[in-house]
Amino acid sequence: MNKGLLIIVSGPSGAGKGTVLKEVFDEIESLRYSVSVTTRKPREGEKEGESYFFKSLEEFEDMIERDEFLEYQPVFGNYYGTPKEYVERLRTAGYDVVLEIDVKGAMSVKERVSDAVLIFLTPESKEILRSRLINRKTESAAELEKRVGESIRELETVEKYEYVVVNDTIERCADDIIAIINAEKRKVGRNAEFINRLLERR
Ligand code: 5GP
Repeated sequence: MNKGLLIIVSGPSGAGKGTVLKEVFDEIESLRYSVSVTTRKPREGEKEGESYFFKSLEEFEDMIERDEFLEYQPVFGNYYGTPKEYVERLRTAGYDVVLEIDVKGAMSVKERVSDAVLIFLTPESKEILRSRLINRKTESAAELEKRVGESIRELETVEKYEYVVVNDTIERCADDIIAIINAEKRKVGRNAEFINRLLERR
């Protein structure tokens, strides 16, 4: 069995990552989300090992010390990280693991896992990104401006990725991601076992 892919999907909020990924997960059975480790307290309804692996600050710092993260970051006063062994175990079992993380996280993972697949999901234009954020109407004008600014700065990191996918319609965007994943799976370098069998090598 081939080792599963490590797929990183990033993009500004308002690019519709969640909706698109749901479509992709419905289509490709081998996909699994990576469950992160966090020091924040569980919210109502969150389950250990499903939403997150919940740890104390001390436990998290021990994990950093033991180099157990592919990447980690402080976010809003808590730590969040991608556990290396958990991801590795899934990939060895043949699952394709999806990380939905920002550009900083993506770059740290790529440094450690050179064959990680980096996909950037983007709206068609800055204008469309802006109008999608405004249409949500969940924030005050000042907060909205801040969010628009952050999202546009995130857009500007697109060149650090390998694939850029435009989220014009959910279906077309999901099809593009599915095509990328299928193409990655067909790379010769990822199929050594099959090729050895094909060429009758011992
Ligand atoms: P929440 O506490 O609302 O679940 O997540 C807060 C933020 O932490 C989100 O922006 C989320 O993307 C980020 N986050 C969750 N898990 C990880 C992780 O493993 N690594 C990094 N770098 N950020 C994460």
